[in-house]
Amino acid sequence: MSRAGSGDIPQASEAVLSTLNVDGSRRWIRPKREKGRFWRRRLVVAWALIVLFTALPYVRVGGKPAVLLDITRRRFTVLGTTFLPTETMLLMFVLVGAIVAIFLLTALFGRVWCGWACPQTVYMEFLYRPIEQWLEGGRSGQLRRDREGGGLRRAIKYPIFLVISAFLAHTFLAYFVGVEQLLRWVRSSPAQHPVAFATMAITTGLMFLDFAWFREQMCTVVCPYGRIQAVLLDKSSLIVGYDRRRGEPRGKAGQRRRDPAGRYGDCIDCRACVLACPTGIDIRDGLQMECIHCTQCIDACDRIMEQIGKPRGLVRYGSQDSFEGRRPRWLRPRTVFYPLILVIVFGLLGVSLARRASADVWILRGLGEPYATLEDGRISNQLRVKIANRADEPRRYRISVLGVEGAEVISPQNPLTVAPGETGTAVLFVNTPADVFEHGRRDIVVRVEDGVDFGRNVPYRLLGPFALRPLPPRED
Ligand code: SF4
Ligand code: SF4
Repeated sequence: MSRAGSGDIPQASEAVLSTLNVDGSRRWIRPKREKGRFWRRRLVVAWALIVLFTALPYVRVGGKPAVLLDITRRRFTVLGTTFLPTETMLLMFVLVGAIVAIFLLTALFGRVWCGWACPQTVYMEFLYRPIEQWLEGGRSGQLRRDREGGGLRRAIKYPIFLVISAFLAHTFLAYFVGVEQLLRWVRSSPAQHPVAFATMAITTGLMFLDFAWFREQMCTVVCPYGRIQAVLLDKSSLIVGYDRRRGEPRGKAGQRRRDPAGRYGDCIDCRACVLACPTGIDIRDGLQMECIHCTQCIDACDRIMEQIGKPRGLVRYGSQDSFEGRRPRWLRPRTVFYPLILVIVFGLLGVSLARRASADVWILRGLGEPYATLEDGRISNQLRVKIANRADEPRRYRISVLGVEGAEVISPQNPLTVAPGETGTAVLFVNTPADVFEHGRRDIVVRVEDGVDFGRNVPYRLLGPFALRPLPPRED
């Protein structure tokens, strides 16, 4: 750190982030587009993903949306299967499976997700940035606009970005509310659904802000995935790297001409790899948190190598082991351990799904006194029977009591009709003769059945008097 001018504000001696200048101001990254072999492959993958992301909310599986994450009603539909909030075990299996799958993917293929499939990269590099470069020109044209003012073409860019962001926001929200609901909102006045409209406007604004201004900082400053890669990667994981043994010592063409001994490596220090990098880093500095493995530096360096008649691959996919001259190992503790956990978790998930009934039942004791004595001497227990209907149509659940001679079930909510995906509660009174209780309790079975495919016996304990004592005769 050094002191700047006469003020007391400390000044960094060098930029601490690739997106910041030394004085702390924003350094706009204007990468040069390198349309090499990896770019062409990523282009195909990116547009396939954009089409998939846009179309998926409209796809139906078995009459249900392929994906619907209904957070307000806490119901998640994936490939035709709806998970209710009560199915915490299933949701936990899915969550643990997804986390371990990410760990395994990273251990094997590094940040392949970031470079090839993350929506931030896909939309930024294959939709927003191409539009920007079409309007403002390539790297040099954009840098000129940065210096001299954006002009009309830069001004036109922002409304276009806003429209695209609005479309993306609508698509994004379709995953949470469904396309039918979304279309209803779009066709009606915002005054009829102000909360939904505000959500849409905020989402559009955030997307616009991200893709028009915040950009690569989402990867280098905000996203936690880049930060945990240090623990997820090992020496054999696939990374985009620079072959230091081949490239160093680097030297520009002029330096090489002045060195007849030819002690230079293959890197001609042209900085094409740096100029192509969308996060503004130099791949030759080694593995860095900011590197999203987008392969632009590979394409840039391959182009240079072809121009100077050297083999491609000075910057390439490899592993830290391979770049240091060791054989990478596919079989390592984490590549054995993670798949093992995945098999167990998805096995348990499969078994749980196969054994999943069309409803769930919970019985809770009634509020207030544990039991009441009726005028005719019988004992009355209040129960609350909660039923979650997982079927796709409304069901009528009949509740009965087994195991007590003379027991009577009183409830206006029996049978109980529950809408699909909803949970209903029936409050009922179980009246029994007083002499059925032993030590103040009596175990019974509550049976719930829907007459279609669901029937369950749930054990329950009624409470009652400890002992029956005849009242003493009156003395008057
Ligand atoms: S260093 Fe290479 S792979 Fe990493 S972000 Fe920059 S261009 Fe992409
Ligand atoms: S593009 Fe290749 S040759 Fe040029 S600076 Fe980068 S690593 Fe060196």
